Amino acid sequence: MKYLIPYLQDDQKAADYLRQLRWPDGVTCPHCGSNAVESRERCDNGLQRFNCVPCAARLGQQFVMFTDWTRSIFEESKLSPREWLLVIGLWQLKLNATEIAAAADIQERTAQRCVNLLDGGLYETYHLDPTRQLEYQVEADECYQSAGSKGLAREVERHDRAPRQRGLQLRGRATAEMGRPPLLGLVQRRDKADQDAPAAQVYLEVLENVRTTTIKPIIAAKVKGGAQFFTDEYNIYHFTAADYDHRTVNHGAGEYARRDPDGTCVHCNTMEGIWSGLRNFLDHFKGISQRFLHLRVARYEFLHNHGHLNWRQTFEAALRCMFSTTGDYWRRMTHQHRRMPLTLCYR
Ligand SMILES: [Zn+2]
Repeated sequence: MKYLIPYLQDDQKAADYLRQLRWPDGVTCPHCGSNAVESRERCDNGLQRFNCVPCAARLGQQFVMFTDWTRSIFEESKLSPREWLLVIGLWQLKLNATEIAAAADIQERTAQRCVNLLDGGLYETYHLDPTRQLEYQVEADECYQSAGSKGLAREVERHDRAPRQRGLQLRGRATAEMGRPPLLGLVQRRDKADQDAPAAQVYLEVLENVRTTTIKPIIAAKVKGGAQFFTDEYNIYHFTAADYDHRTVNHGAGEYARRDPDGTCVHCNTMEGIWSGLRNFLDHFKGISQRFLHLRVARYEFLHNHGHLNWRQTFEAALRCMFSTTGDYWRRMTHQHRRMPLTLCYR
């Protein structure tokens, strides 16, 4: 976080830095997109005001003003630009709201709101980005998060799996309704032959249940056809044989990794490692509610996928995501008190 120091002492510098990330090619009007804007005097908190000439002409007014934060997720915030920079820096360090409040000297309720706004901003931009797809070698696996208590209870779930052989009625599987929402994890293995390859790219989705009808549209949207697709023997994945080179490892028979005759390593160990990283991360949020679980998971997903970048590159990538939305998702979620149904995201 060292490079933030100059900006943390001066709201104007902080505002200038954030503006540069929002509009790298020059300021444009958030209402009409025009770059025919004039700088006016700053606000008390250091934010720059602008007047949009075309908007003013169209409305027959002398000025149509906007600021650095108009129509951004920060628009309604009472925090100053330098306070936001500090909060985002701490947020990126995977701290929870209590810790951010203490470190940034703000109220815990304010910190909680900031965290939800930031996680929500990532969720609707980065997580839901339809252009982000996995390819080549992709592992899939599920796990269960007890919302409201700690841990993924992964081992317990493994034990639950044995009686599944009885039939296709997945009666014993946990669902969101039962208070243990399942997570689907998809990960594109890192190309070990390429020194500069990015981190293993992961896609994590909180589900209502683990039926094929739930996961099929997600896999179809997120994994490019023709990829090698590695899962355990669980039958919800059988449909993937049609579009992918589907290979299974038989956990039930004690098989955890295998090398096929064509040299392909068949295992889900990359995904297993990510589950344990996610578990450590989520344990940090005491009693996570189902309403917010997918937001925390989105932050983990983003930070994991940017793991090969340095701190500043990740910080600026996060801010570019934040500035690519107005925060409508979070505002809608606040009013509805629930998350947007997945069916709206994958059609
Ligand atoms: Zn305009």
